[in-house]
Amino acid sequence: MQIYISGQYFSKENAAVSVFDHGFLYGDGIFEGMRAYSGKVFRHREHLQRLWESARSIFLQIPLTPEEMENAVNETLRVNGLKDAYIRLIVTRGAGTLGLDADLCKNPQVIIIADKLSLYPREFYEKGLEIVTASTTRTNPGMLSPQVKSLNYLNNIMAKIEGHLVGSVEVLLLNSKGEVAEASGDNIFIWKRGVLHTPPSDAGILEGITRRVVLEIAAELGIKTKEAAMTRHDIYTADECFLTGSAAELIPVVKLDGRPIGGGKPGTLTKKLLARFQEETLK
Ligand code: PMP
Repeated sequence: MQIYISGQYFSKENAAVSVFDHGFLYGDGIFEGMRAYSGKVFRHREHLQRLWESARSIFLQIPLTPEEMENAVNETLRVNGLKDAYIRLIVTRGAGTLGLDADLCKNPQVIIIADKLSLYPREFYEKGLEIVTASTTRTNPGMLSPQVKSLNYLNNIMAKIEGHLVGSVEVLLLNSKGEVAEASGDNIFIWKRGVLHTPPSDAGILEGITRRVVLEIAAELGIKTKEAAMTRHDIYTADECFLTGSAAELIPVVKLDGRPIGGGKPGTLTKKLLARFQEETLK
């Protein structure tokens, strides 16, 4: 495996950043998770746009143009001989001192790792996920905005650990108002009374690119959608539920907090949207 770090390639063993990098010391940096299908990065420009928005929000100057970044990602795929891959794109603040002063970090680092996919096992797609609500809430948008895909995912990790403690691979996070936000690394949708619902941006979510594609597909199929605040009650009483994310694509959820959703089996619409989504990735 060859890893791109600021213009050079390193083997996995030799790929490293400074221990003074603020990304390492403080989670001071941003990232994107993308996928390539048959050699083409899915919604590449949209991921780069989100990366640049995260950067602007945290005063981080990305040392490449979006075009240069796009080329670097494509080259990393080529160098690794990968056509279907998960790509992790990271920009750190760079090495500074042990203090918090970001002005002392003069060399932001760009890291691109392309690897074979490690998705949820197939049986999870066939049987659906059983998830629980975490007591850890999603970061409040008044703090660091959840729209910033920052290197500090500790909140999400804490929530995921809570799930693992009770045997759930994924968890639901609420926002500080007690409304449904999203899963630890995925957005959430429900299908109820003929409407496809998902929490709005101001519920404190990361606006996922997969979420956006699903909303586009729903519009094309003439499915009514609604982005409005929802509570766990809405999920408990939904006909279907699924999560969306670049790595997971669409994955059914069949139980939340012990309550079976719909028939306790992956729903028909979920399967149809997943199939339609997969077609989209090959366009
Ligand atoms: N929410 C969070 C917190 C995430 O980390 C991710 C995955 N990056 C998503 C949602 C899904 O976003 P996307 O569809 O752009 O991968």
